[in-house]
Amino acid sequence: MAAESVARAGHSVTVLTGESTPGSKFLVAGRGGLNLTHSEPLVDFVTCYGEATTWMDPVLRRFSPDDLRAWAHDLGQPTMIGSSGRVFPEAFRSTELLRAWLVALDQLGVKLFRKHEWLGFDLAAPQIQEARFRSALGKTISLGADAIILALGGATYPRTGSNGAWVDNMRAAGVQVSALSPTNCGYQVPWTAAFRDQFAGVPLKNVCMRAGSMQARGDAMVTKFGIEGGPIYGVAEAIYAQGDQREVSIDLAPDLASITIENRVRAAKPGLAMGKLLKRCAKLAPVAISLLREITSNQIPRDPAQLAFLIKTARLKLGEPTTMAKAISTRGGIMHSEFDARFMLLARPGVFVAGEMLDWTAPTGGYLLQASFATGRAAGLGAVEWLESGRCTDLDLAGQ
Ligand SMILES: Cc1cc2nc3c(=O)[nH]c(=O)nc-3n(C[C@H](O)[C@H](O)[C@H](O)COP(=O)(O)OP(=O)(O)OC[C@H]3O[C@@H](n4cnc5c(N)ncnc54)[C@H](O)[C@@H]3O)c2cc1C
Repeated sequence: MAAESVARAGHSVTVLTGESTPGSKFLVAGRGGLNLTHSEPLVDFVTCYGEATTWMDPVLRRFSPDDLRAWAHDLGQPTMIGSSGRVFPEAFRSTELLRAWLVALDQLGVKLFRKHEWLGFDLAAPQIQEARFRSALGKTISLGADAIILALGGATYPRTGSNGAWVDNMRAAGVQVSALSPTNCGYQVPWTAAFRDQFAGVPLKNVCMRAGSMQARGDAMVTKFGIEGGPIYGVAEAIYAQGDQREVSIDLAPDLASITIENRVRAAKPGLAMGKLLKRCAKLAPVAISLLREITSNQIPRDPAQLAFLIKTARLKLGEPTTMAKAISTRGGIMHSEFDARFMLLARPGVFVAGEMLDWTAPTGGYLLQASFATGRAAGLGAVEWLESGRCTDLDLAGQ
C-alpha cells in the first residue's frame, strides 16, 4: 500500500521482500476467508486500538474501511458484508485480490525483488537512507534510496517471513521497540484427559467471554492444549492486563437472562439428571455441560440461583498464551514516540515505517489489516512529502 501510494504520486519505487512469494502472510490470512475490514460505523471502528487509538484515529479516517472497500472494488475485487458485519472480498480468499494488486503495482512501474532480506541500516554509511540486504544470490549488499519504507510485519507465523528479526537491527539504529509478544492467540488450559480426549476440536458455540471491562461474543474452540477463537481474541488486551493470573468469565447462554434460567431450573422435575437439566433449562451442548464439570471439579450446584449464575459467569483459569508461531498477531513494536505524523523515524530521517511492526494492537474482525493498509498508505504519503522536498534516484539491482 505504501509502494502504491508513492508510485501513484509519480515516483520510482522498488519493493524488496525477504520471501519468494510476496504477501505470504496476506495469503495465510485469507485461508479461512480474508476479513479485510469491518462495516461498523467509523466512530466505533476507531476505538478498537487500545492505547494506540489516539494516533490511529486520524490515520483510519484518512483511509477508512469504506476507502479500503472502494480500493478492492477498483482492483476488480468487490467486497461483501458477512452476518457479523465483517467485510470479505466476494472471492472470499486473498489469492485473487493479491494477484490483481501485484498486476496493478507492475502497471504503475513498481519493481519487485524477491528474496532480499533487510539486515539493518548501514550504520557506518554517511547517507541516512542506506540499508543492508542479503540478496537472492546470498551477497550482502548496501542500497541507497531517497526514502525507505519498512513494513516488516510482526513475528507470528514466522514461516511467512514475518519473523521479527528486524527488532535487533532497529534497536541497533537507536529506535525504541517495545517487546513483541503474541496476541489474538489461544491460551493453555490444563484440561482433564477425559475432557481433552472427548472435546478437543469441538466449538463452544455462541458464547460471550468477559475479562476486565471487555466482552466478545462468538464461537470459541476447545483445543488439545486449551482454548482459542474469536471471543477470546476479542478480550485479549484485558487478559494481558491480568498478568499471570489470567482468567475469563464465560456466559454459556448469552441469549437467556439469568432469571429465565433460574425460573426454568426451579420449575424442572426434581431429581432430573444434571446433564438433562442443563440441556432443558439453558440449551447447553455436551461440550458446555462438560466444561462446567471441568470448572467445578464435577460439583455443579443444584440451587437454581447458583446454577444460573454459574452458566452466565463460568470462570475459566487460563495458562500461558500459545507460541508466536500460532498467534494471529503481535503486541508491541516500534513505539509511537519514535516516528512523526508522516510515519518517519525521528532517529533516521527519510526512513518510514508502517503496519504490524508498529506498537498497536487490535482484536480480529478486520481491524488488523485495515490498520496495516491505513498506516502503509500514510507512510507512503509521508515519503512522498519527503521526496518532494528532495531528490529521487532509481535503485539498480541488476546482477545482485
Ligand atoms: C492465520 C492468520 C489469519 C489472519 N487473518 C486476518 C484477517 O482475516 N483479517 C485481518 O485483519 N488480519 C488477519 N491477520 C493479521 C494480518 O495478516 C496482519 O496483521 C497483516 O498481514 C500485517 O501486515 P504487514 O504488512 O504489517 O505485515 P506482513 O503481512 O507480515 O508483511 C511483512 C512482510 O515483510 C517481510 N519481511 C519481514 N522481515 C523481513 C526482512 N528482514 N527483510 C525483508 N522482508 C522481510 C515478510 O516476508 C512479509 O512479506 C491474520 C494473521 C494470521 C497469522
